[in-house]
Amino acid sequence: MRMRWLTGLAVLMVAAAAPRAQAQDDVRRLADALRGATPMIGDLRVLTDSIGGRATLSANNVAAIAWGVRRFQEAGLTAQAESFVLPVGWLERSASASVSGGASFVARIAAMPHSVGTPPAGLAAPLVDGGKGADADFARLGAGARGAWVLVERELLRDIDGLFAEYAASAETERRAWVAGAAGVVYQSSRADGVLYRHNVALGWDDTKPAVVMERAAAGRALRLLRAGVPLRLTARVAVDRRVQPTSSNVVAEIRGATKPDEIVVVGAHLDSWDLGTGALDNGANCAMLIDVARQMVRLGLRPARTVRFVLWNGEEQGMLGSWGYTVRHAAELDRTVLSAAFDVGTGAINGFFTGGRQDMVDAVGRALEPLHDPGPFTQLNVPIVGTDNYDFMMLGVPNLVANQESANYGPNYHAANDTFDKADTVAMRRNAAIAGAVVWYWANAAALPGRHTRAQVDELVRTTDLRAQMHIMGGMLEDFDAGRRPRRE
Ligand SMILES: [Zn+2]
Repeated sequence: MRMRWLTGLAVLMVAAAAPRAQAQDDVRRLADALRGATPMIGDLRVLTDSIGGRATLSANNVAAIAWGVRRFQEAGLTAQAESFVLPVGWLERSASASVSGGASFVARIAAMPHSVGTPPAGLAAPLVDGGKGADADFARLGAGARGAWVLVERELLRDIDGLFAEYAASAETERRAWVAGAAGVVYQSSRADGVLYRHNVALGWDDTKPAVVMERAAAGRALRLLRAGVPLRLTARVAVDRRVQPTSSNVVAEIRGATKPDEIVVVGAHLDSWDLGTGALDNGANCAMLIDVARQMVRLGLRPARTVRFVLWNGEEQGMLGSWGYTVRHAAELDRTVLSAAFDVGTGAINGFFTGGRQDMVDAVGRALEPLHDPGPFTQLNVPIVGTDNYDFMMLGVPNLVANQESANYGPNYHAANDTFDKADTVAMRRNAAIAGAVVWYWANAAALPGRHTRAQVDELVRTTDLRAQMHIMGGMLEDFDAGRRPRRE
């Protein structure tokens, strides 16, 4: 009896060890394939150099949707474009400006996303020194801000920390400027060499005044003149295409699960970009990477237990609108959605994941990365993060991850004309693909996984972290949450 019991236990142990060893072997095969000479880099070149910048609703964006569907299909997956409605769509049509008064010069500008345009003949108004856009600056300006273009000085941006600081400062500056009755806000570009970029206005689509970024050197010249007492005027002509409730699409591709097809692993990167550059770091690189993870899984005959859904999100830059639309359309599946993972920080090496304040997610990521010996060490940041396509999943309690990547050259090229193919670190991309593959494979096959959080647990997360502060600087996100507009929680 005892003997038989022991033999039985040994058999059980072998049976348990075999799938685990098999899973580790599968992960290593997938990782090795992704580190090899795959079409990944060529895909990124086509998406960026051939198709180009992909602002949602633009012709390039439409071409990119068709390209994404085709590349997944060519990799052997079922794939289609899946529509969603944007509350408001925004594209710049043209933007130009000139300074006059005590000096005359042309100043290149870019409209800030969701800002309104000017009258066709332009908006001509005094240009005033807005300093850093702080309370003290508006106090100094007093009535001088009323009806004026307020020019705000910016530090040179060096890294992602600088980027977050810029977002946070802008959110307050715009609110102050509109209270002060300014005609518009002009930010000095935080990038050198005439580089312009897009940076969403603080109020999102509730914005009612024009806001632009001006090339650094011209803005610097204007600030020096103003500080020397030389009066200036700015004439800016900005035409924007602002559409209410237009339709766009995510690209949704799937490998159906072999044994638990109703349970779904969502893994995504956003296909859209801003249009000044070609969106290589943000976020073509991670789209090409995920297409390759899918391609290599099929090529190696790796059939996951759960369904793996690869999604190229759209409308991310306009407010993570494609992933929001997905959570509304697929609301009935969210209880069975075991993960939504987002990759969106360029091509710097993945050094961990944002695990959203959940110890069970920290533990699971650790297990997922175990089979990969070489690329660590990884440090999980167990905090919630707002700013990419995990947002609605997180607010609905769905287990979610955001890859944390070395900031590398992400900040200086962010949303700018210089975000182009040559900035991509193609070696790191392959290593990142192996890591993404390991995470996908673990969540697709592990026997037990972290579950969905309840509404009370999400509310607790909001109460006990800086989530509200993060939502506040993200163009109307906090207002939407407090009003119950987003996420839609039944
Ligand atoms: Zn992005």
